[in-house]
Amino acid sequence: MKIICVGRNYADHAKELKNDLPTEPVLFMKPKTAVLLPGKPLYYPEFTDDLHYECELVIRISKNGKHIQEKFASKYYDAITLGIDFTARDKQREQQKKGLPWEIAKAFDGSAAVGTFIPVTETTDLNQLLFRLDKNGETVQQGNTSDMIFSVDKIIAFASCYFTFNIGDLLFTGTPAGVGPVAVNDKLEGYLAGEKLLHVDIR
Ligand code: MG
Repeated sequence: MKIICVGRNYADHAKELKNDLPTEPVLFMKPKTAVLLPGKPLYYPEFTDDLHYECELVIRISKNGKHIQEKFASKYYDAITLGIDFTARDKQREQQKKGLPWEIAKAFDGSAAVGTFIPVTETTDLNQLLFRLDKNGETVQQGNTSDMIFSVDKIIAFASCYFTFNIGDLLFTGTPAGVGPVAVNDKLEGYLAGEKLLHVDIR
């Protein structure tokens, strides 16, 4: 099982981190050991002083495939939830400055928190989903998937040219603006279309 993630998929977030808008999806991966199961706390890692939340729509792959055409991409997933792409922002900046890979900043244990999955039904429109993240009861991020630069189906088409998708793989689809730091004892809660699906305590 692997986790494919998209960076800079919302223009307002790319801007807040002073990145150029991408012309094709920016992909990176996290290993299976990065998964933080629903309800589990994240222990603040000792290697960072600037751990950030990035709340994202997460797609669960339900069918193996490679070179998936965009028009068939929706046949390859069956469930969605919200997740947090935890990022050691200080480590990421150091790595970026040196032109080095991001894994130590983004793929560490527990860095891919996921909520409870809900099924994708015929009425689910992945291009019109509102979601938000609350930190200690206050909304810190609000997104609408209609603001994605690359839609879920476009990302799947692009990524599957490089990586075979397998059943159970996860796709993190990028974060809207409002990313920020967490501290020990913070409580993060994610709501998709008004429904609470995600809860992570920082310990
Ligand atoms: Mg992200």
